[in-house]
Formats: sequence, structure tokens, C-alpha cells
Amino acid sequence: MSHEPTPSWQLVETGPMSSWSDYVLQRAQLTMKGKDFLGEKLGLTGMEISINAMPPGQSVPFAHSHKQNEELYLFLTGKGQMLLDNQVIDIGPGTAVRITPPVLRCWRNTGTEPLTCIVIQAKAGALEQATVKDGVVGKEPPRWP
Ligand code: ZN
Repeated sequence: MSHEPTPSWQLVETGPMSSWSDYVLQRAQLTMKGKDFLGEKLGLTGMEISINAMPPGQSVPFAHSHKQNEELYLFLTGKGQMLLDNQVIDIGPGTAVRITPPVLRCWRNTGTEPLTCIVIQAKAGALEQATVKDGVVGKEPPRWP
């Protein structure tokens, strides 16, 4: 059995946010415009991330929940609403919404420009440490070539 070297980092160019609406996601019987998942392209092992751009007047045509993953929606541009079970919240640039797995969620664009967001999902309760508890400062100062 041979082992391929595992790259220690990956890079994906998603293009400017203004081009995100050109993405077309094709998965099983689901076709969604303005959405792309980056997890596989980046080789992520502990989270999934998607980039999203929804045109004005549109809504995700279904509500969904998750089996084990919590989600973070970080809205970047535009104006809209999220439906979380039976509650409606207003969203806009800078709105960050964390949603536990069983909550039925949907979102729509109520504004006049694309509603863009980044969605990160990870197994709820899996994070053991972060920031200063997990970060290790290098012994030497950065050496930019
Ligand atoms: Zn989801």
C-alpha cells in the first residue's frame, strides 16, 4: 500500500463575490444556482463550507435541518430574512446566525442586490479547543522572503 503525500494546505479561488451567482451546484436531484461547496476542493476534514449568492426576490425552495451538524450563516451583502422553525429574523451584512442541527431553516432575499453569505457546518459539540487554547505561536518571527 502506497501513501500519497498529503498537502499541508490547499487554496481555492472562489472569485469575487459578484461572480458567486454564476456557480451552479449539482448534487443528486438538487440543482442550485449561486451556491458552491468548498470542503472537498479544500480537503477539509472537520467542517464544510459553502459560498452563496441569492438573487433579489428569491428564496431557497425548501426548508432543511441537519442530523448532527450545527451551522453558522455569515451574511456579507444584501438584505433578507431567515425562517428558523416558525420564527422570522431579519438579516443583512454582518449578521452571523448559529443554528443547532434540528432547527428547520430557510432564507430569502428581500432586497434589491444579491444576498451573499458563507455557511460553515461542523459537528455540534465536536470543538474541543480554539483560539489561544489551540493556537501555538512560532518560536521565530515570520520570515517573509
Ligand atoms: Zn444546511
